[in-house]
Amino acid sequence: MTTAGPNSAHGPLSGHDPLIITIDGPAGTGKSSVARALARRLGVDFLDTGAMYRAAAAISIDRGLGPTDPQGVADAVRRADLRFDFAKDPPELRCDGRSLMQRIRDADVTAVVSPIAAIAPLRRHMVRLQRSIAAEHPRLVTEGRDQGSVVFPDAQVKFYLDASPRVRAARRAEQLRAAGQPATEQALLDQILERDRSDSTRADGPLLCPADAIRVDTSGLLFEQVVDELERLVHARLDGRAKKNAPLAGAETA
Ligand code: C5P
Repeated sequence: MTTAGPNSAHGPLSGHDPLIITIDGPAGTGKSSVARALARRLGVDFLDTGAMYRAAAAISIDRGLGPTDPQGVADAVRRADLRFDFAKDPPELRCDGRSLMQRIRDADVTAVVSPIAAIAPLRRHMVRLQRSIAAEHPRLVTEGRDQGSVVFPDAQVKFYLDASPRVRAARRAEQLRAAGQPATEQALLDQILERDRSDSTRADGPLLCPADAIRVDTSGLLFEQVVDELERLVHARLDGRAKKNAPLAGAETA
């Protein structure tokens, strides 16, 4: 991954004022990688809130708890010392001093994360935690499902990344195969559709495209093209040049 490399038309942002850029969207759109690359190019911090909900799922599994005990899950996560080490790139998520970076990608965690993330008191705790991280890292690209809608409604720039379910399943399959793991696209497609359904129908912090977000369909775009486009849009927004419904490659204002 490059920083402000040959693809970067603008480079790091100048100034020190607080700046929150949110990237929301469904599973498999490449949000995390895009958010991380964008943050590096802009010279700001990166927050992966999906990792936090995955950590909550891992903590629940390890304590023998599940979505049927919402208060137990929320209490266990509240008691855990969950924090990012921002000295690492990407920031390393740790629980009670141990790195969770590998554990949160395990299949058993992915299988339960969405019902765990629907637990209202857990979401309230996460929202507080995410806002307190932003208070310490006030120049931030943060990605998840509810970052622009609930956690940072006043964010200066909001994106919603989308892609067709088939494209998202194919990308996930490619990632798994590259990591030497077996992958069946149909099974991944079914999982993605189920996670979309569960994430967008929950009562608290459902996945949605905020009214003031810029929607970018990444289906036909390469990774670098997505990052280039978002970087360009951030600079345009901050320069006050972005117009609603401006004709952009694959991008539109919601
Ligand atoms: O982005 P990622 O796939 O790692 O997210 C894992 C899960 O965490 C999502 O499917 C969703 O259920 C939950 N999540 C959430 N709110 C966020 C980020 C993630 O509910 N802000």
